[in-house]
Amino acid sequence: PSNATGNVANENNYLMVKPQYSLSYNRSYATPNWVAWRLDSTWVGGAPRQDDYRPDPALPAAWYHVADNDYSGSGYDRGHMCPSGDRTRSIPDNSATFLMTNFVPQLGANNQGPWNDFENYCRTLASQGNEIYIITGPSGNRGTIAGGRIVVPNVTWKVVLVIPNGSNDLSRINRGTRAFGIIVNNFPPINGNAWRNYRVTVDAVEYLTGYDFFNQIPKNTQEIIERRRDKQ
Ligand code: MN
Ligand code: MN
Repeated sequence: PSNATGNVANENNYLMVKPQYSLSYNRSYATPNWVAWRLDSTWVGGAPRQDDYRPDPALPAAWYHVADNDYSGSGYDRGHMCPSGDRTRSIPDNSATFLMTNFVPQLGANNQGPWNDFENYCRTLASQGNEIYIITGPSGNRGTIAGGRIVVPNVTWKVVLVIPNGSNDLSRINRGTRAFGIIVNNFPPINGNAWRNYRVTVDAVEYLTGYDFFNQIPKNTQEIIERRRDKQ
């Protein structure tokens, strides 16, 4: 949604495409701008959580590579954007979620509260025969950790589009398609752990971030599904 490219000169909107997810990296913030992936039940299997947090070797060599210990003692969790639990088909798939380009400093009460609740909800939708397009990221600046290297976001946001399993996805999206998001404050107090307390329209996340999500969907359909308040 940000017109990211793989040109190293584009250092604050640098596209990184992996088999498991794609992201736009922000060198100045040392976090992703957004991370995007598709979730369906084929991605969920028996691979155990790898916990192999490590610098991402795919970053340009001259750039600072965030390491696991950059978050140590910061008071913030290593907040997965693409969650470990969404990539358990194989050990390499799960391990890819522990590359430090997939993390932002996340308040524990956010990460372990509504954020986790919504990750679980999305996996439930997948287990019920849906495929879900997910885009998520940080927004804002509440200061830094790691000696000024990593920016702590003000909020974390997510948008999802849900369709039943099938092929030719774009052609199956219509004005009835379910699309919505969440915005969660990354500072206390957190208003309970239920993700529905944080539910917003896709339009609200577009307004927050300046991105145009789901922009391959014809404009008239996109406008309808992005402004509709989810009630499920
Ligand atoms: Mn998490
Ligand atoms: Mn849009």
